[in-house]
Amino acid sequence: MYTTKAYAAASEVSGLACTTVPRRDPVEQDVQIEILFCGVCHSDVHTVRNEWKHAMPTVYPAVPGHEIVGRVTKIGSGVKNFKVGDIAAVGCLVDSDHTCPKCQAGLENLCPNMVMTYNSPDKHGTAPVTYGGYSNSIVVNERFVLQVPKNLDLAGTAPLLCAGITTYSPLSRANVKGKKVGIVGLGGLGHMGVKFAHAFGAQTVVFTTSQGKVADAKRLGADEVILSKDADEMNKHAGTFDFILDTVSADHDINTYLNLLAADGTLTLVGAPEKPLSISAFALLFARRNLAGSLIGGIKETQEMLDFCGKHNIVSDVEVIPVEKINEAYERLLKADVKYRFCIDMSSLKGA
Ligand code: NAP
Ligand code: ZN
Repeated sequence: MYTTKAYAAASEVSGLACTTVPRRDPVEQDVQIEILFCGVCHSDVHTVRNEWKHAMPTVYPAVPGHEIVGRVTKIGSGVKNFKVGDIAAVGCLVDSDHTCPKCQAGLENLCPNMVMTYNSPDKHGTAPVTYGGYSNSIVVNERFVLQVPKNLDLAGTAPLLCAGITTYSPLSRANVKGKKVGIVGLGGLGHMGVKFAHAFGAQTVVFTTSQGKVADAKRLGADEVILSKDADEMNKHAGTFDFILDTVSADHDINTYLNLLAADGTLTLVGAPEKPLSISAFALLFARRNLAGSLIGGIKETQEMLDFCGKHNIVSDVEVIPVEKINEAYERLLKADVKYRFCIDMSSLKGA
């Protein structure tokens, strides 16, 4: 075992502060990574503040961060795909049972025994739970370590590991080429959803509550932008969408969006608000609409997404911050005040 610096929350009201956490020494299949950049996902905020206490209670201290890009510093004797000095990435998963039908199908994100990058029981017994990427170093089984295309900016790549795959997966499964697609919320997930929907050839419409994001939405690839508070504008689109991806992190009226779906259209939720959403049966019954959910993606699909981004030169629009600014960044994230993903330069933690 060794220790590494990390930013951790001591309780749901403490905010984050510098500490040290234990990591295991790399065993046979492990890759040790010096973390260079870590994106800031809204899930980090939900977890730190224990907002998902009914589904996934937070164990403290909590070290968030699951959008990790770094450099390999050590490998176990059985590692085949990485060598010391390589750039490597880690997303929301660090392990699974490897044996269930979902793992066999490359869908580790659906494995009943998946181990998430933070706040999951630590199978190695190094700590009570796994600790995430707001840290200088991490050790991960190589099956959960991704290759980064050489042409991509590293800070902009980090958010692909969660915001990227979470939007890429449902949009690619929905075969959106030539279809009318709505992206609700232009945050970290939403702005990646716009980039992917546009790259997949969908007619892409953004719904935002922020007047100040309209011009950007078009630059990011939207064909049309609708201010969701404008009821007249919303009504004009009633019954016309094939697919809507809802990325909103807080309570909102989902029925408004269900009503915009055409017959047999689907609204897929990726946003995970603290409180249950209220759903009108009528919004689903009429036009035989579907409501679905989606959780990140499997490792194979995550690599496919990274390769797609390499080929199409897609990265996240990031505001790079030093780790000391993390509590301020959370406050701004809650006000939808970031264009469009905070990304921590982890070298700032070394001297902290
Ligand atoms: P984010 O950057 O904060 O973006 C959320 C966006 O939602 C905001 O930028 C804002 O967009 C909109 N919004 C916020 N509050 C709203 C409200 N009260 N009413 C209407 N719109 C509102 O968050 P994120 O990192 O993209 O994450 C979004 C959600 O997805 C979070 O709940 C997160 O936990 C979840 N998530 C799920 C998965 C998964 O696998 N399913 C993976 C990662 C994250 P506008 O300013 O454009 O309105
Ligand atoms: Zn995330």
